[in-house]
This record gives sequence, C-alpha cells and structure tokens, in this order.
Amino acid sequence: MTAAYRCPGCGYVYDPAKGNAREGFPAGTSWEQIPDEWCCPDCAVLEKVDFEPIQVGANS
Ligand SMILES: [Zn+2]
Repeated sequence: MTAAYRCPGCGYVYDPAKGNAREGFPAGTSWEQIPDEWCCPDCAVLEKVDFEPIQVGANS
C-alpha cells in the first residue's frame, strides 16, 4: 500500500510512484521532494499544503 496525495478541490491525485512528468517530477519523486509552493496542475488553485494523503493500491 502506497501513500498518494489528493487535491480536495478537483480530485487530482499525485502518486509518487508515477510522478508527474509534465510538472517535472519523474516517476519515484516522493511527496517530500515536491516544492511547498507547488500548486495543483489540474485546478491551479490549491497548493501542496492543501492536499490530503490517501492510500492507493490493494484494498484502497
Ligand atoms: Zn486541484
């Protein structure tokens, strides 16, 4: 089971195992490596601090 982070505004999920190449985060980029000022790539409204941790994978 892996931790991912979800934007409570639009539902975008950042999965560290996948990263976000478009944002410059290669697969495997941990949440801790994301800059604090990074904002959601989908809604561009909410920031990293607003994201909520979720569990992904088996039995999520
Ligand atoms: Zn969002």
